[in-house]
Amino acid sequence: MNFELDDEQKQLSKSIARFCETGLPERPKGTRYFTREQWESCGKAGLLGLSVPTVYGGGGYGALSSAVAMQAFGRHCPDMGLVFATCAHLFACVMPIVEFAGGEVKRRVLPRLASGQWIGSNAITEPDAGSDSAALKTVAVPTGDGYYRIDGFKSFAGNAPVADVIVTYATTEPSFGSLGVTGFVVETANGGLTTTEPLIKTGLASCPASGIRFEGCLVPEANRMGEEGQGRQIFQRSMGWERSCLFAAFLGMMERQIDRVVSHARDRRQFGKPIGSYQAVSHRITEMKLRLESARLLLYRACWGMDRGDDGQIDIALSKLAVSEGAVQSSIDAVRIFGGWGCLEESGIELMLRDSLGSVIFSGTSEMQREIVARELGL
Ligand SMILES: Cc1cc2nc3c(=O)[nH]c(=O)nc-3n(C[C@H](O)[C@H](O)[C@H](O)COP(=O)(O)OP(=O)(O)OC[C@H]3O[C@@H](n4cnc5c(N)ncnc54)[C@H](O)[C@@H]3O)c2cc1C
Repeated sequence: MNFELDDEQKQLSKSIARFCETGLPERPKGTRYFTREQWESCGKAGLLGLSVPTVYGGGGYGALSSAVAMQAFGRHCPDMGLVFATCAHLFACVMPIVEFAGGEVKRRVLPRLASGQWIGSNAITEPDAGSDSAALKTVAVPTGDGYYRIDGFKSFAGNAPVADVIVTYATTEPSFGSLGVTGFVVETANGGLTTTEPLIKTGLASCPASGIRFEGCLVPEANRMGEEGQGRQIFQRSMGWERSCLFAAFLGMMERQIDRVVSHARDRRQFGKPIGSYQAVSHRITEMKLRLESARLLLYRACWGMDRGDDGQIDIALSKLAVSEGAVQSSIDAVRIFGGWGCLEESGIELMLRDSLGSVIFSGTSEMQREIVARELGL
């Protein structure tokens, strides 16, 4: 057993850190969402196609190396909305296309998505289908002349207002339940859909998210992913990528958080001593470190399993649980350690709490991860 990253992974991590320091343009003051210029620079840095095969313009990295890169991105880029947007694009939109779309679609869309020319989104959630993602009301009906007609409403789709490609799921056979769900690659330039006003959400603010109304949206049969009824399997596989690699970005955020609290606990003096000399504070930081390190080991193991072709649901669910719950708890601890200043926007400390809050909800809630673990244990 080897706990060290290999030279390529160390190099990748360093190059992402360098990109954040010198190559990532700032979001113009007064703008809420990430810009196309920032997006294209992420594409040039290789972030948007890390796990995409090189033949389509990607980096050809496996899950563990992609996670290491996203961990570096989360550590060195405090704009977690942008980090989340790149991860959602890559793991929930681009990877299902890599693994399940037809050759002609892959050749057309993947180089654009990997380079940063295009933005990808993933839309499965509906007002009445959240955790129960098989209860979809969106329907896809074959037109008989080489298309499906998609009608329905999706909610909460990250990147949707600016997306060029949306991976979406609809039922092609309502009576089959989850076995009737089919996945599609929707190219937004072809029309048939509108997005709602962006949602104002807690945290991850620079990633625009919205509802999507599909109205007579015609999608060529060639844009169906896999077979009819394979959608649930495709979505679960994409969640494997997301629950492991996307959450590596939150490990990076937790590393940044520890640096901040250690430095604050050394510098801030009360009652004539640094607050870090009080056990109540230093032990809180120790707990933060324990959460980070144990979550990192679980996440690396989950990614290592994926790279060996074993996307064990239990490992991925445990890793997602440890990272997301750890990120929220450690963000609360960081606010406490910073005291009143931690509650101010200008400290950047309360921001980590807002940015991490959604992580216990998206990609499957903590309760659903516990359900997966319990099921795998035979309960
Ligand atoms: C920041 C953010 C970004 C998102 N991005 C996307 C995106 O890009 N694309 C997309 O499609 N969706 C996205 N979502 C939606 C997300 O996937 C859903 O919010 C999530 O799946 C939960 O669904 P819900 O909100 O309907 O909650 P519900 O399913 O209504 O759950 C409410 C509560 O009930 C619990 N619960 C439900 N069923 C059970 C059960 N069987 N056992 C135990 N507890 C249960 C849940 O755990 C939760 O605590 C995003 C959400 C957030 C917050």
